[in-house]
Amino acid sequence: MSRTTRATRTTPTYDVIVIGLGGMGSAAAHHLSARGARVLGLERFGPVHQRGSSHGGSRVTRQSYFEDPAYVPLLLRAYELYEQVERDTGREIAILCGGVMVGRPDGRVVSGARLSAETWGLPHEMLDAREIRRRFPTLAPRADEVALYERRAGLLRPENTVAAHLQLATRQGADLRFEEPVVRWEPCGAGVRVHTPDDTYTAGQLVICPGAWAPELLADLGVPFTIERQIMYWFQPTGGVGPFLPEHHPIYVWEDPEGVQAYGFPAIDGPELGAKVAFFRKGEVCTPDTIDRTVHPHEVAAMAGHMSRQIPLLPGRLLKAATCMYTTTPDEHFVIARHPAHPESVTVACGFSGHGFKFVPVVGEIVADLALDGATAHPVELFDPRRITGPLPAAAPA
Ligand SMILES: Cc1cc2nc3c(=O)[nH]c(=O)nc-3n(C[C@H](O)[C@H](O)[C@H](O)COP(=O)(O)OP(=O)(O)OC[C@H]3O[C@@H](n4cnc5c(N)ncnc54)[C@H](O)[C@@H]3O)c2cc1C
Repeated sequence: MSRTTRATRTTPTYDVIVIGLGGMGSAAAHHLSARGARVLGLERFGPVHQRGSSHGGSRVTRQSYFEDPAYVPLLLRAYELYEQVERDTGREIAILCGGVMVGRPDGRVVSGARLSAETWGLPHEMLDAREIRRRFPTLAPRADEVALYERRAGLLRPENTVAAHLQLATRQGADLRFEEPVVRWEPCGAGVRVHTPDDTYTAGQLVICPGAWAPELLADLGVPFTIERQIMYWFQPTGGVGPFLPEHHPIYVWEDPEGVQAYGFPAIDGPELGAKVAFFRKGEVCTPDTIDRTVHPHEVAAMAGHMSRQIPLLPGRLLKAATCMYTTTPDEHFVIARHPAHPESVTVACGFSGHGFKFVPVVGEIVADLALDGATAHPVELFDPRRITGPLPAAAPA
């Protein structure tokens, strides 16, 4: 059809090429194609795969954001978009079962969540240890621990979210190609050229959503990304899943007195999968090629031992464990921007530092703004890579 026959060296076949169709890239392909752009998406693996950062059945979402109040407006928009994607595809995206941020009142999780809630006037309740135990009998806080309870916290279904965005993008005419890794890209004329083992493509705009492959695809960005191996654990609670169903057991992020954060979910997939739990951060450094996909007995024992102090019934028998990668920036804030070295034609969305999934749909919207309009009305100042790298050498006075 016309698209390939129109291709020449000087006329881009596509308006925008999106590299990576995981969490962020699938949402970008959706928002770009919804605005009428001719989109080519290139993905190294198949659709909705398990080898990046967007798998494992559940992701926490919450609005009283302890990391920084600057994220809150983006979360409010993301919540609207979850609903829209659910309506447009009929897939289950969000289960808003409520959530608690637990720890000492002056710890990062509780004090940061409270700051965001108060700054933005978000509905929330502060619970002392006794009230936490009363409302959520599965949780066993220490006497000096408190919680911020948020009714609209909950979980997202990552695989459904990626599948829904791919489905919408395809419906809107995006050309999505799987098992086709990008080996190289470069600016050319007024646009970009992208090479895969199969072909070379040109477009006016390039969007790069590489997940854990950021160090290789975005070396010239100059951001020192750390790729971390993370483990998700599914335990069969002692005594069964009943008390762990979403109507009784919230999502939680729990910071212990040493500052170690763990988080977990209610039992949403029946007795076969029990309830999922994980440590937040503190993963081993790896690369997508070197990551050890085996979960070892000492790791299971460490997770079970940690949880037995906070949720004593949770760590019964291990039912499943799986690995996943974080792509972490030095300050754990995202990178979403026009590429400083190629501001005319390249947009990047990466470095989500283990907390990006809840932003997936709004990142798609921001990336579409940046690629098609050159700017976005969303507050993204925090995500400028130059906060880490400084200004480009070329931009400095000679
Ligand atoms: C265990 C774990 C738990 C998490 N929990 C939460 C949570 O509770 N809440 C939350 O908000 N966030 C959470 N996160 C973080 C969140 O899941 C990530 O920030 C998000 O999924 C990142 O999406 P992405 O698109 O950047 O990466 P990915 O989804 O991995 O997508 C990147 C894609 O690029 C493709 N690609 C790479 N290189 C190339 C190439 N050369 N050519 C073509 N394609 C390429 C990859 O194959 C991949 O599909 C968690 C992450 C992990 C690992």
